[in-house]
Amino acid sequence: MALEMGADAVGIAAVSDFSKECPEGYRPDDLLKGAKSVIVVGKRRYTRGQWMAPNTDLIHRARSGQSNRDTIAATLAGLLEGEYGHAALFVNPGMFDTGFVPVLSLKVCAELAGLGTRSMAGGIILSKEHGLLGFAATITTMDLSPDGPMSDPVCPDRACIAMFAEDGTTPCIRACSAIEGSIENGRLKEVTFYRQLCATRSNTTMNTVYLRLLPEIVEEKDPERRKYLAIGQARKYIEDPPGRGIWGRCIECMRVCPVNRRAIQLKGAEANV
Ligand code: SF4
Ligand code: SF4
Repeated sequence: MALEMGADAVGIAAVSDFSKECPEGYRPDDLLKGAKSVIVVGKRRYTRGQWMAPNTDLIHRARSGQSNRDTIAATLAGLLEGEYGHAALFVNPGMFDTGFVPVLSLKVCAELAGLGTRSMAGGIILSKEHGLLGFAATITTMDLSPDGPMSDPVCPDRACIAMFAEDGTTPCIRACSAIEGSIENGRLKEVTFYRQLCATRSNTTMNTVYLRLLPEIVEEKDPERRKYLAIGQARKYIEDPPGRGIWGRCIECMRVCPVNRRAIQLKGAEANV
């Protein structure tokens, strides 16, 4: 039903699996007493056309078109209550104002539902088939048969394994100072993610935050530091138009990721881009 309503991916996680991943207070049954299952809905964040578009506003504002994903999760919750008599609630990313410590991590939900695995690039949940996905979840007391996590990690990609062996780096590490890590025997060995660097790029979604910083930016005499304050410093190889940092939502690690690049290829005989 979720797929028919427009989800790109859907999976089921067992609530009992969350105790291994999340501390008490941050699990589905902390939100819904007696919860047994979490249905996770995944939706591609951008179409291929959007990934390729030169207009950054068009790309970064595209997430406003994700409401269908949240509607699917809400509809599933209604169905579980109306037709099956099981309590249900839905969770979407815009629901909580709890910053980097959400009351429920949708990434953990997605991973435990088998929609992808954590990646070197900021722990983004990568899907082999869809690349970067956004998620919403429906928590229910109904005991559904879980899909469980994937057995093989999506990241590192074979191209990244070869690149690391050759140069000691990967496309995402090369693109961004917020990411460090190593690969051993074809698997991620160590990952260090500097969240404070990424956050200034990917989560500066509030104009009020930028406005609060504006006097400091205008007063700064050193042009390099002024640029740093205005548009962030994390990414090394990408020229940014000033002002983009107002809205943030940086996705450069995914733009260079071979898993994502493969996933956004057009399919079928008509594919010509
Ligand atoms: S490329 Fe952008 S989104 Fe990715 S880790 Fe760096 S700052 Fe964050
Ligand atoms: S580029 Fe993609 S697949 Fe390669 S290491 Fe980074 S996140 Fe993983």
